[in-house]
Amino acid sequence: MKSILKSISSGIEYPLDEVRFTSDNGELLDVIHDFDALKKKYPLTREYFLSKRSSINGQPSGGVWHFKELVLPDIAESEIVSKQEGNTRLYRTKKISSWLGLNKEKFFLKHEGENPTGSFKDRGMTAAITMAKHLKQKAVTCASTGNTSASLAAYASEAELTGIVLIPKGNVAVGKISQALAYGTKTLVVNGDFDDCMRLIREAQETLSAYPLNSINPFRLEGQKTIMWEILQQRNWQVPDWIVFPGGNLGNTSAFGKALHEAHQLGLIDRLPRLAVIQAEGASPFYKAYKNNFSGLKTEKAETIATAIKIGDPVNYTKAVRALKWTNGIVESVTDEEILEAKANVDAAGIGAEPASCATVAGIKKLIASGEIKTNETVVGILTGNILKDPQVIVDYHFNRKTALANPPHDVEASIEEIKKYLS
Ligand SMILES: *Cc1c(COP(=O)(O)O)cnc(C)c1O
Repeated sequence: MKSILKSISSGIEYPLDEVRFTSDNGELLDVIHDFDALKKKYPLTREYFLSKRSSINGQPSGGVWHFKELVLPDIAESEIVSKQEGNTRLYRTKKISSWLGLNKEKFFLKHEGENPTGSFKDRGMTAAITMAKHLKQKAVTCASTGNTSASLAAYASEAELTGIVLIPKGNVAVGKISQALAYGTKTLVVNGDFDDCMRLIREAQETLSAYPLNSINPFRLEGQKTIMWEILQQRNWQVPDWIVFPGGNLGNTSAFGKALHEAHQLGLIDRLPRLAVIQAEGASPFYKAYKNNFSGLKTEKAETIATAIKIGDPVNYTKAVRALKWTNGIVESVTDEEILEAKANVDAAGIGAEPASCATVAGIKKLIASGEIKTNETVVGILTGNILKDPQVIVDYHFNRKTALANPPHDVEASIEEIKKYLS
């Protein structure tokens, strides 16, 4: 019942323990599990997953390894490198739902910024680092807009592997580069953009003799699938109408499509929610390809304040197109101004998230305005990264803007009189 690697179009098969990221003819690879064999061992029903309890505190449990049977079924529990990722909150928030004009009972925000290193990347990292160890790799590497390097750094430390990260000069938020340095990974600041870093990783795999942990690594996506299953389980397996989230390298898009497709195949859900991928206007090759009925991807030079999605040549394009076909999905693009406005609202609601994450909420706003999302539909938005990842954007906004939500600090003398004067 071993899982295998399989190329996504021509179906060429490779063993799971072969170190490779594309097929010989250059296609991306899927991890394919043998569901029929797995079902003979585990029930894999809604009830099974709902009734599974955490081995730590007996609570109903979520998280990546709650779904181990559908992530890496052949790997021994003892091999797993985990920081208890997942189990993130599904918020309902009156402030944001009323700003959007949605029903508070039907609008949810899944906060993936509550993972161990502050982004959803940890869900993929636990699976891919576990495989790196299993495959006896000594060093791991990635190109990163910041969060992948933060996550890699923490997990490489835990797994006692050498970490090497390539980040684009001047384009990584301060919270993220701080984490890479603090967790002790070798950090190379490349005089180029993310797409240059990604190209180097793909070209230099052998020279570096380091195992790539970008989302081209199919095990990353196996871990990220659990975001979908956790949402479904948190909602008692009731399927929402929409799942909305930002798209950069399109790893989540690919993983979410696969998760929903598999849940449907297993009979866990009887219909699929629609995926809505939101891109920043200055980094929107997927949006443009969508508008051209996916007749081809034109790469571009990316520019946006949302550095986590500042990507002009997404490696997971073909898998992402498939995900949208499976889910009748759509792509929207939003301006940096729209992202900042949405972020001010997400932050002021006491939830907060980094700029790329707030593209989700800006996208929902735009899709409601265009009538694509109806106000009586159930919508789950994904916040991909923590508010503290990019404090500079927050400071710039509140010090320099004159908007209703701008909230600059005030200097006062050290006296009660002065404070009273200010507050009145
Ligand atoms: C990586 C990242 C994204 C982009 O996700 P993809 O899977 O590459 O499309 C979005 N938001 C945040 C915060 C990220 O770290």
